[in-house]
Amino acid sequence: MLTEGHAKLATYPPNVKYTEDFTELQEEARAEKKGVWAYDSLSQGSAEGDREEETSYIGNSSTKKYHRESCSAVLKMNEENKVIFQTGEEAETQGYEPCKRCNP
Ligand SMILES: [Zn+2]
Repeated sequence: MLTEGHAKLATYPPNVKYTEDFTELQEEARAEKKGVWAYDSLSQGSAEGDREEETSYIGNSSTKKYHRESCSAVLKMNEENKVIFQTGEEAETQGYEPCKRCNP
């Protein structure tokens, strides 16, 4: 019995075939940036916080002025009056004027 068991172990080493397949799949997935490996690139992206600053302009739909995000007028602005613009040009085509204080 024991001998037979050992023989079986030797002939079919556990997990070797499985491990080979698994490694292969991992490499495939990594190459295609799929599955778990996709999280690698996500966690590396630290630019998330930087994007919040000075990348857009805030318009006031009440006064029809637009401001830099850092302008003190934005802090006082009603949330419901806030309009986000990606560029100053975009704001002006919609009838907004640049704020004289922050000069966007
Ligand atoms: Zn302003």
